[in-house]
Amino acid sequence: MTLTIPNCPTCQEIANHSVDLAPGKAGLMNQEQGENVDFEYAGDTEIDWDSQTNALLVVLRAVGEVVNAADFILVGCSAGHQWISGVQP
Ligand SMILES: [Zn+2]
Repeated sequence: MTLTIPNCPTCQEIANHSVDLAPGKAGLMNQEQGENVDFEYAGDTEIDWDSQTNALLVVLRAVGEVVNAADFILVGCSAGHQWISGVQP
């Protein structure tokens, strides 16, 4: 792919990653039974890597925007800045 905005608008460094989200199932555990039981995280998380998606698309879908997944991407530089770039095949 080719990024239409390959360099960071803030520091001019070239993009070095896409900002992605992957859903996970974080294990929970409880010590008691019944209502109003306190749960704690068990310390394990199963990541669904097959559902990994660029964060921009996750946000746009959440607000009901219909977008072509191939048109835009949220990318970042090593300094931690993030920006939206167009994508050309
Ligand atoms: Zn930057």
